[in-house]
Amino acid sequence: MRRTEQEITDIRDLETVLKRARICRIGLAEDNMPYVVPVCFGYKDDRLYVHSSPKGKKIDMISKNNRVCFEAETDVELVPADDPCDFAITYRSVIGFGRAGLVEDRDEKIRALNIIMEHYTNRENYTFPDSIVAVTAVIEIRIERMTGKRSKHPI
Ligand SMILES: Cc1cc2nc3c(=O)[nH]c(=O)nc-3n(C[C@H](O)[C@H](O)[C@H](O)COP(=O)(O)OP(=O)(O)OC[C@H]3O[C@@H](n4cnc5c(N)ncnc54)[C@H](O)[C@@H]3O)c2cc1C
Repeated sequence: MRRTEQEITDIRDLETVLKRARICRIGLAEDNMPYVVPVCFGYKDDRLYVHSSPKGKKIDMISKNNRVCFEAETDVELVPADDPCDFAITYRSVIGFGRAGLVEDRDEKIRALNIIMEHYTNRENYTFPDSIVAVTAVIEIRIERMTGKRSKHPI
């Protein structure tokens, strides 16, 4: 990272960014063409979980190339100024890399759906009808590495 003083290195701080972030953006690649898609997610034990329709471009792409990049941020604030060159944006963000796959086991899917729900509600004991679980895809991203950055001053 060019601005090393802005780097977040402590895993607990990286996890805090992930836990506070409201959405993440998943980057996928196919035939030298990137595709970035915003999603809701949950994070636990070095894994991101995303629920999805079982059909669509991101699912197709993951089935062909499971290598993904993701980004999430929190605490974003615009700091206005009179001089346009003095405007700033403050944030804490994470960029990670990993491998994506589909969770197939019913109980594992329910566990993952609860991790997503907990992310947004702080509750994790929801029940899900079997009929919904059966038609819901759950993507698991096994995180291989992450970097973090915080900006407190003009970029
Ligand atoms: C804040 C937010 C949260 C979301 N949370 C989830 C989630 O938790 N789970 C989930 O599955 N989806 C979520 N979505 C929707 C998601 O971004 C995709 O639209 C959806 O997952 C379908 O993706 P797909 O690759 O299957 O697209 P497809 O339906 O296959 O369509 C692919 C085409 O549609 C375009 N497209 C797809 N999505 C978008 C988009 N968001 N904006 C503009 N163009 C688009 C692409 O450019 C591409 O050409 C969320 C979107 C937002 C903005």
